Formats: sequence, structure tokens, C-alpha cells
Amino acid sequence: MYEHPKHPAAPGSDTPQLIDNHGRIITYLRLAITDRCNLRCSYCMPEQGVETVSHGETLSYEELERLVRLFLDMGIEKIRITGGEPFVRRGCMDFLERLKHDLGVTQLVITTNGVETARYLKRLKALPISGINLSLDTLDRERFKTITRRDRLADVLETLYGALELGILLKVNSVVSEETSDAEIYRLGELARDNGLSMRFIEKMPFSGEKMEKRRIDYGLAERLANLFPGLEPTQTKNGSTAKEFTVPGFRGSLGIIEGSSRRFCSTCNRVRITPQGMLKVCLYDNGVLDFKDLIRTGISDEELLKKIRSCLNKRFADGHQTESANGRAAQPSMASIGG
Ligand code: SF4
Repeated sequence: MYEHPKHPAAPGSDTPQLIDNHGRIITYLRLAITDRCNLRCSYCMPEQGVETVSHGETLSYEELERLVRLFLDMGIEKIRITGGEPFVRRGCMDFLERLKHDLGVTQLVITTNGVETARYLKRLKALPISGINLSLDTLDRERFKTITRRDRLADVLETLYGALELGILLKVNSVVSEETSDAEIYRLGELARDNGLSMRFIEKMPFSGEKMEKRRIDYGLAERLANLFPGLEPTQTKNGSTAKEFTVPGFRGSLGIIEGSSRRFCSTCNRVRITPQGMLKVCLYDNGVLDFKDLIRTGISDEELLKKIRSCLNKRFADGHQTESANGRAAQPSMASIGG
């Protein structure tokens, strides 16, 4: 039986870090625990007839914890829990507590839409959670209803201000679409002026086939921020980060832009993903390279799993463009998967 070493994996231990065939060290795992959501954002899913994965087709918490242990053994330092909306899955908070307390995850972060999150803030703070990424596209109630097809802005704001009050590190991710006005961007920017948070605007980039629209929005966003927030200055981007960060004189927090495609950062890409159905993705643009659910449910050993994970990382494409051409358009990621 495979013995899990103490975390984090020590340099020189017999469980060396996960390094891909391009020399990139993998330290970041994004774990989607559900495909379900309590909002219906128009850019993400249709209003009705949303196909969801059945419970049996989703990795159980036990299966997820086994995978987390293995990834920790290979030097993963940061784990982000995403969805869908993670708190829609029953037991999410208990799962986070086990990851932190039983498995020893050092850097545990979560991406949430904030609709049901306020009630968990004290427990998140007690973990302690290393940060919350909150998705919020507008501060206008009517616009929020139009975008998300739900009237839940007040609940999201309760989460936002509750997290700030508890001193939880907060990043707000906001998708900028063709309909987003300058006034709306300014109001969102004011959140960073008045609070110590990072307000990040996500360029809504329609994928292949809609290049004209991409050009228009790309051109607009950096310039719009510069016009709206005089003195905007870029800061040093951290390795592996997909956001360009900016400071603004007099702001307590910072502003940022997350590129729709995120492919500018491939040379330092340190992340892998696991989908709710248990597929390992070594790039946002692949279709899944390893079926954990199938392997686990047919009785694979930990040693074999480790070997298979390493072998996938050994065949990784250099960047998202190469991955996309190898996989075709079926691999187009959703806006939610980029911002999350
Ligand atoms: S496109 Fe793929 S390789 Fe590039 S940064 Fe995103 S996930 Fe990493």
C-alpha cells in the first residue's frame, strides 16, 4: 500500500515535484467539485434545459481527497475549489475543512459567486482560507438580474462585505461584455478604491470565429481603465498569474485585467485542473487527458495513478494554441472557467 509522506513534499524526497516536459513546475491544482450553479449567467449557460452531470458521474469527496493527497505528495502547494458554484454541492464546507485540517493543504482558495457563501464566512475564516475569488459583474440590481437571470445581488454583496469585515483576502472577478458601460466599470473600480481588495476585469473573449469582437473588446479595456482611473500603473506580474495588476493613486486595493484567453502566460503555466467528472486537464484548452473516475472505480493503485499523472505531464503541449489545434474547437473553455 502506498504510504503518503508528510506535506509539503520535501525537496530531495522520493516523491519529487511534478514537472512537465517543458520544465514547468506544477504547483497549482484547480478542483471543480460540481458543474451545477445557482445562477444562470447568459454567457455561461442557457436559461433552461441545462444538462448537469448526475451525482454518480461526479467524483465523490472520498475520491477527491485521495487525488488531493497524491497531488500534495507531488508538491502541489495551492488548491482552488471551483464549480459551477462549489457551495451548491452539499458538504462543500466540511470538505474544505477536511482538506485543510486532515490533508494539510497549506494554500486553500475558493472561487464562488457569493450567492450562498455569506453563511460560511466565519468557518472559512477559521480554516483559514487563503483567499476568496468572488464573481460579480455589476453593482446594479437590474443588470445583475439580466446577466444572471436571478435577483441575488444583495446576497452577493453580503458575502463581499462580510468577507472584508473578517479580513479575508478578496479578489472580485468581473466579466466585461459589450454591454458593460464605463459607469459600471467605474463603480466596480470604486470597490478597490474604498476597500483593500483586488478588482479584476475579465476580457470577455469570444473564442475562435469571433475575432472581430475580441479585437474590439481587447482594444477597449486597458484603455478604458486608464481613462477612468488616472494614474493607473502596471505592477510586476507574479509568475503563473493570469492577471495584469495595476495600482491607482489613493486606492486601498488594486485593479487588474484577466485576458480572456490567458495564453500569454503559458511559458510559466503552473496549473492543472480536475473536472467534476474526474477528468485531468493539463491545459484549459484540452478535453481531459486522464479519466480519474474510471481509473479509481476500476481499482487502480496509488503508485499507478502517480505514474499516469506524471506521464500526462510529460506529454504536455507548450501552450494553449498548440493544445487547441490538437484538440479542435470542442475544447473551448467557458468564461466561467477562465475567471474562476
Ligand atoms: S492556455 Fe493552457 S498552458 Fe497556457 S496558461 Fe492556460 S492552461 Fe496554461
